[in-house]
Amino acid sequence: MPQSNLYDEEPPRDVVKRAEFLRREISKHNYYYYVLDAPVISDAEYDRMMRELVDIETKFPSLVTPDSPTQRVGAPPQEALGTHKHRQPMLSLANAFSEKELRAFDARVKRILGIDGDRSLEYVAELKIDGLAVSLTYENGVFAVGATRGDGYRGENITANLRTIYSIPLNINLSPEKKKAIAPQFSVPRVVEVRGEVFMLHDEFRRINEERAERGEPTFANPRNAAAGSVRQLDPNVTARRRLDMFCYGIGYVEDGGWSTHYEVLSALKGWKFKINPNITFCENIEGVLDFCREWGEKRDSLDYDIDGVVVKVNSLEQQERLGYVARSPRWAIAYKYPALQATTVIRYILVSVGRTGALTPVAIMDPVEVGGVTVSRATLHNEDEIRRKDVRVGDTVVIQRAGDVIPEVVEVVKEKRDGDEEEFTMPEKCPVCGGEVEKPDGEAVARCVNIACPARLRESIRHFASRGAMNIDGMGPSLVDRLADAKLVSDPGDLYFLKQEDLQRLARMGEKSASNIISAIERSKDTTLARLIYGLGIRHVGERTAQVLAQHFGTLDKVENASVDELASVPDVGPVAAESIAKFFAQEQNKRVLAKIREAGVRTEPVEAPREVPQFAEKTFVFTGGLESMTREEAEDLVASLGGKASSSVSRSTDYVVAGERPGSKLARARELGVTVLSEKEFLEMVGRE
Ligand code: NAD
Repeated sequence: MPQSNLYDEEPPRDVVKRAEFLRREISKHNYYYYVLDAPVISDAEYDRMMRELVDIETKFPSLVTPDSPTQRVGAPPQEALGTHKHRQPMLSLANAFSEKELRAFDARVKRILGIDGDRSLEYVAELKIDGLAVSLTYENGVFAVGATRGDGYRGENITANLRTIYSIPLNINLSPEKKKAIAPQFSVPRVVEVRGEVFMLHDEFRRINEERAERGEPTFANPRNAAAGSVRQLDPNVTARRRLDMFCYGIGYVEDGGWSTHYEVLSALKGWKFKINPNITFCENIEGVLDFCREWGEKRDSLDYDIDGVVVKVNSLEQQERLGYVARSPRWAIAYKYPALQATTVIRYILVSVGRTGALTPVAIMDPVEVGGVTVSRATLHNEDEIRRKDVRVGDTVVIQRAGDVIPEVVEVVKEKRDGDEEEFTMPEKCPVCGGEVEKPDGEAVARCVNIACPARLRESIRHFASRGAMNIDGMGPSLVDRLADAKLVSDPGDLYFLKQEDLQRLARMGEKSASNIISAIERSKDTTLARLIYGLGIRHVGERTAQVLAQHFGTLDKVENASVDELASVPDVGPVAAESIAKFFAQEQNKRVLAKIREAGVRTEPVEAPREVPQFAEKTFVFTGGLESMTREEAEDLVASLGGKASSSVSRSTDYVVAGERPGSKLARARELGVTVLSEKEFLEMVGRE
């Protein structure tokens, strides 16, 4: 530890104060992180403070105190678990945050070893698993003690908990035949301490957090904390219920190890049946290391566990020994850290955005912060229930997270940073885009705007209205809908019926012929069924089936519009949630205006005949596969429904008939497999009385 001041000048008072502050803060966060397994700031913020302290101490070495966090590892062990003295200290790693710093590491190592800067030096590059370091001591090949890193010298004895992890072998002795066959450096030493990282897979992390949330317990911030919290349990049964895993990456204390390179050590560990990460690479020089770092920087999202960087180790054990250690880390290794995917920032306000399906999403607007190399100032809060669950308030300091291309999200609130001025948020009762009614049925998390003409959901409303199962307007695909909306030619689905050929021809890529085809298709769609029209309105919870049921029950649009919630709910197959949603839709002023427009345009729905209770159809389920000659599949399904049957899209044991048209698909094979009656189109038409 450098003791003398390299600078003549005394450190300025504010620098001394800052160093004291940083030491206090970092020690406090070490406690939260290592002892409580519940950090309150992001790793990136912690790393920033640590860097600043290292910089100050490098500039003014007189400020280095023996208890400075720059000189120590982790935190003292928790006595309750029982402590274990490491035979060889378990240290931390120095960090590199850029390629430049990795090259500087290579240059420094070569300088100390007296190797010419241009010559290559062999390294091993390994993924830096984001879990917690543990040591496993084997005596005469039998697992004797397992311990956490603790403060590097004394860790917690967690032997019983580690025994519950299946990937940790309890006995590594080789069979007598194998012993004879292997090279001496692979034989098991009398005492060997294997080191590695205990971690948790993403799926398991999600499972545990869901369970905890259900029980009302605090959730873990990330898989690393979940793994640490699970392995440091007083009750091994709790550890056993959490599926933990371990990758081993080296050895500490050893009696009579015969290896000459780190790569050989890893091969020996593999031979003894430890789990070694498959993505470890031998690199001939630092350029190979840089390639590995770049490759995994891009691929890290593809792993089902977290990594926070790459660990680079000098391969030769003799060189490692010559390089030795500094205060808290070896000189022969370095951790290249990827930009953190989590960061801490402050929420300034919460705005509500309306998506194309009308879903209202609260979005946190925050002080800009860098996350994984990208500056972020907005993060999704998903919905009101999530805000309540996480207790997010305006003015809160929050941890945010980015993963891949996913929209950043607020992970949790740092409650310790509250000063009482934070404000609770309530979802608006009206849509912030159009002022329309907002609907949030009981039991659903998402609130939605129910106005069919809301500008935010305009494109989706029109696309759905024109779709095949609804008004079936040929040629009205998503790209044309976009162009019509961009040109402000439509502001709700009813406007489609007032489009003129000249309007369409003014659009880019629209010739006279196409425009006229579209106008005819719109015109044709005016002759439709009530079920299709109801379905086309895009009422939440009203799919094709419910629309069909409503049309049959009420017979006219007027009657559906004027039905009360109770009347709607009394219709067989219409649940209370759908009834509520339908009534709300028709009560909305903007929706009434759109319906008036549709009527004015002359959209005619065929009078709905009361279902002809054709006995062969009552309660029978039909599935159509392949193309029909005499009608579209939608028409055939409508027909089945009008006769009292049901149409479904998949074949199961409860299917009564499969109607196979031209080029039937796999549904036909499935029907034969299940012994379901298969009808040709002709047979189907005979059944409905059209042949
Ligand atoms: P570190 O995590 O930066 O690096 C050392 C550790 O890397 C080793 O102990 C080992 O556990 C691990 N490791 C993973 N894969 C490895 C491999 N293949 N080979 C060797 N080691 C491997 O250092 P640290 O001292 O354990 O922790 C410091 C870091 O912890 C900080 O940089 C910060 O990110 C985080 N931290 C955060 C807070 C907080 O409040 N958010 C507090 C303390 C520490």
